[in-house]
Amino acid sequence: MISERKRAYNCEYRRTHKEQRKVHDYKYIHSEKGQRRRREHRIEHNEEIKMQSRPRKKKFYKLHRDEMIAKAKAYQKTPEGRAIAAVCHNRYRSRIKGGDLTKARWMEIRDRSPICNACGRFVECENLSMDHIIPVSKGGLHTASNIQALCLICNIKKGAIVPVI
Ligand SMILES: [Zn+2]
Repeated sequence: MISERKRAYNCEYRRTHKEQRKVHDYKYIHSEKGQRRRREHRIEHNEEIKMQSRPRKKKFYKLHRDEMIAKAKAYQKTPEGRAIAAVCHNRYRSRIKGGDLTKARWMEIRDRSPICNACGRFVECENLSMDHIIPVSKGGLHTASNIQALCLICNIKKGAIVPVI
């Protein structure tokens, strides 16, 4: 335990050495220990932090609503935004049936070559659509090995047909 005298001294020191304190705090926050404590604190007080930040977020959203919507819409049109949409599109079904496809993995498959896997037509990589080789509705998994990049026309034509191998 820290004695009263020491505590008073610490308080006084912190009050009179603001600059040193800043430097020290900065160092601590960016140290390994500081980062670890921060993560632990976040996990321990997750609910509290969420509750505290909620009104602030709400207020911010109210003020910047149109801006944020426009930003989100613009992001959805970028190649990365579209990849996320494709991955998330099947998230619910895949959670039940299993699968671990990530955005990065899908983008890797999609950007491998700008050619439709079924008809061989040239399509810009970012316009290729995600297709489950064995459809999710027929027991296929939402995993990288069950994913291929098709042009939209082939994808719609294929529907829920299980390919004959
Ligand atoms: Zn095609």
